[in-house]
Amino acid sequence: MKKKRIVAMLLLGWSILSLSSCQVNWFDKHYDVPWWVIAIPTVILSMMIWIAAGSYIASKKYVCSKCNQTFYPKWWKAAVSVHMDDSRVFKCPQCGEKGFCKPFGKMEE
Ligand SMILES: [Zn+2]
Repeated sequence: MKKKRIVAMLLLGWSILSLSSCQVNWFDKHYDVPWWVIAIPTVILSMMIWIAAGSYIASKKYVCSKCNQTFYPKWWKAAVSVHMDDSRVFKCPQCGEKGFCKPFGKMEE
């Protein structure tokens, strides 16, 4: 049963890849471009933005609201973390508490 489902998925995927195309006008020339030619660079670009944003956030030190331990978050966690102003939700590596952590050095604001 599972194998059949995978085959069906592959067939569906392949038909989408080969059938769908979009018209691209380059000056006075017309090209038929499959949608994934546009989709794949878009995905790669958003991945790069995600990684860049994540590593930027992870370069800052955060302070646990429970035990005041400072730590650097992992970039992939930082990129998907919920945030409010400067505070972000992280799991503290010291006490294991999950909560809003302020960036280190911004405690007084
Ligand atoms: Zn903590």
